[in-house]
Amino acid sequence: MSFEALGLHASLVKAVAAAGYTKPTPVQEQAIPAGIAGRDLLVSSQTGSGKTAAFMLPALNKLANMEPSAPARTPAQSAQSARARGERVRFTPAQPKMLVLTPTRELALQVTTATEQYTTDMRRIRAVSILGGMPYPKQMQLLSKNPEILVATPGRLIDHMESGKIDFSQLEILVLDEADRMLDMGFIDDIEKIVAATPATRQTMLFSATLDGVVGNMARRITKDPQTIQI
Ligand code: AMP
Repeated sequence: MSFEALGLHASLVKAVAAAGYTKPTPVQEQAIPAGIAGRDLLVSSQTGSGKTAAFMLPALNKLANMEPSAPARTPAQSAQSARARGERVRFTPAQPKMLVLTPTRELALQVTTATEQYTTDMRRIRAVSILGGMPYPKQMQLLSKNPEILVATPGRLIDHMESGKIDFSQLEILVLDEADRMLDMGFIDDIEKIVAATPATRQTMLFSATLDGVVGNMARRITKDPQTIQI
């Protein structure tokens, strides 16, 4: 089986070849076609199985087929139009199309780096990391560019969501990476709040070492007719 045969755009096939991937891993063989078909996914797989590409490639394939996000407005442009409407000057919220939640900063940065690798030929698709411990002004600057993809740890994302910096009404794809670890770390309430802020029409992909117990319950609650993949 080749990446091309899984139904990916030529630019993504080229990018994975450039990354040195010769053929899809078992989780990619199953997740990529199902993801491209728009299915929700519940995937039980380990780190090292190629799970990042298993959710990111079908997601990028979908984003590549969609209208681009509104171009970023400079703070000066936003301020000018707000004043023209007689409103107080405020930040225009980012409206991401895809959100990846990860338990740790390290994993978020790995996902962002992999995404940059896969989008070398898709200039308009940007991914940014929103992480605890990163200075707020830097994050505001990243959000002001209205990136298509946010990769975030739950706590810091909630801060930005509650202060109106992010609007999830345009979200198409939600990924929970290492969902069992996020629950072990006590992020359940944050995750529930974030999921509740996204449209019910989203595509959801959840990856976890196990799909039993608490994580399985949450997984089934936040997905619709999911395809289950056990590797
Ligand atoms: P992950 O499980 O997503 O953390 O990926 C583990 C490692 O495998 C990363 O370094 C990926 O770049 C690499 N990788 C992912 N898919 C493939 C593939 N199809 N062929 C070779 N390497 C891959």
